[in-house]
Amino acid sequence: MKYIDPHIHMVSRTTDDYMRMALAGCVCITEPAFWNAFDRGSVHGFRDYFVQLTQYEPRRAGKYGIEYYSWICINPKEADDPAFAREVISIIPEFLESERVVGIGEIGLNKNTKNELVILEEQIALASEYDQLILVHTPHLEDKLKGTRLIMDAISANSGIDPDRVLIDHAEEHTVSEILDRGYWAGLTIYPNTKCTPQRAVDIIEMYGPDRIWINSAADWGDSDPLSVPKVRFEMRQRGYTDELIEKITHRNPVEFLSQSERFHYRYE
Ligand SMILES: [Zn+2]
Repeated sequence: MKYIDPHIHMVSRTTDDYMRMALAGCVCITEPAFWNAFDRGSVHGFRDYFVQLTQYEPRRAGKYGIEYYSWICINPKEADDPAFAREVISIIPEFLESERVVGIGEIGLNKNTKNELVILEEQIALASEYDQLILVHTPHLEDKLKGTRLIMDAISANSGIDPDRVLIDHAEEHTVSEILDRGYWAGLTIYPNTKCTPQRAVDIIEMYGPDRIWINSAADWGDSDPLSVPKVRFEMRQRGYTDELIEKITHRNPVEFLSQSERFHYRYE
């Protein structure tokens, strides 16, 4: 059975991971631009990273039969210096021309600072100007609920953005209902220690229904698991879910959301 992992940071992963994902049924991934465990010292560092996300990594994924797309932005963790962040933002439009780029992401907030919020608003405006989908990173633990609300308020303040074209990721029990009520898509991230477990993710789906939700691993350079999506499928199967429902959540839903980008050519079969 095929699946999509719509949020994974493959530049931090090995070819063994690609192989295991392909064997587990992964056919397509999208990789958001994010913090690579160190602060880049210049705008050139970002340019090289964006080149990697648009030219090199798609070819690496292709060797395993996995269709690859990316999202471009300056992540919230490196966005606390507005002058520097604006330099990075100025090079984003040239990468939005790439045939592999499906939107702006993952933007959002990290520590919910004023500077982060200003840069978030500017990248929301960029998405509106270039008619791009948006992928949102929400803060961790105690900052999550407040940060998720601040982000949704910033997005709804921009009349050029249709909430149906925005996915708010790393949602949890206390944020999912508000995200869906306001018309956005919600992402559930499965991590070994923090964020959701497969069991909690399936509980959330049982509470809020299978619509406008996707599952991802957000696997990166830290403690994370590139096989998170198949593990959620295993949990659903254990609970007696039909193949159709499993397929909807882990394959059809991400295709429905991502197909709103004209760059996304993967077709559900
Ligand atoms: Zn991420």
